[in-house]
Amino acid sequence: MDNLKEILSRKALDLGFAKVRVAEASTMSKEYGRLKDWLDSGYSADMDWMRRSPEKREDVRRLLPGAKSVIVLAYNYFSERNDDNAQPGEYGKLSGYGWGDDYHGIIIPKLRQLASAIKEFNPGSESRCFNDSGLVMEKQWAERVGIGWQGKHSIIITRDYGSWIFLGVIVTTEYIEPDEPAVDRCAGCTICMDKCPTQAIVKPKIVDANKCIAYWTIEARAESEIPDEISRKLSGCLFGCDICQQVCPWNINYQKPTNDTRLLPRHGETSLNLNSVLSMTQEEFSERFRGSTIKRSKLATLQRNAKALSCE
Ligand code: SF4
Ligand code: SF4
Repeated sequence: MDNLKEILSRKALDLGFAKVRVAEASTMSKEYGRLKDWLDSGYSADMDWMRRSPEKREDVRRLLPGAKSVIVLAYNYFSERNDDNAQPGEYGKLSGYGWGDDYHGIIIPKLRQLASAIKEFNPGSESRCFNDSGLVMEKQWAERVGIGWQGKHSIIITRDYGSWIFLGVIVTTEYIEPDEPAVDRCAGCTICMDKCPTQAIVKPKIVDANKCIAYWTIEARAESEIPDEISRKLSGCLFGCDICQQVCPWNINYQKPTNDTRLLPRHGETSLNLNSVLSMTQEEFSERFRGSTIKRSKLATLQRNAKALSCE
């Protein structure tokens, strides 16, 4: 009979994951220490949810007693932008991760299928699945299992797909042979730091959310005004910002189109007309973005951003 690692690797690839790797479930003290320094420096802006449950972030065995392994999976979402001709001031760019269907609805069912395969292998096992959960340090685990390294822009980069990936994590009580951690391959490159329009990457791997366009156009509460020094430099970004990823040589050289058509731009749109956003009603917003990643945001957020972009 195949061992569990072989079964999971095969099934993960069948489910469309680009990569699957494993680490032993152990503490993340050093990594959590770095996260805490970032939080204590005020770089998380008002994302206070990142301070919750530190003991679980530091040790996944507090999320699942008896956990022995952490499995991390990468799902490629890359497709090409098609808005090179969109006029600045008339159109606002959407971040690539938001073009298609809500990825949580794609990734989580696939993680659950893998968790079921573990249960089938050993009915006495327990597993928990995470996708974008504040409780698991997904990027740090992705480094530890060797999926990729944290680039200077702080996002995980893989050698074969670049950084256009969603991460999923399964914590399980089954022991699975661990893989080697990733090696940092940014070397002397600083392109993402140099090209960030707001100089939000204050040190390698340290992004100050207070200066980051992605924070201001997605995470910041709709009622918060975008500060002038940021809104003057939005660089055409309406929802999120991909600039530091677009300029990265690992993306330029290794990005590959996703096979999952649900992640392709809905209505072929990689940017939106600002006037149509500003005049959109709540009913139109709900209808147009039903089941999409953008729907997780609010119409008021999009309209605040569109207003700022119209005056940029
Ligand atoms: S997302 Fe945009 S603003 Fe934020 S660090 Fe990257 S390039 Fe800078
Ligand atoms: S642009 Fe250069 S420094 Fe930035 S993440 Fe990519 S390789 Fe690393």
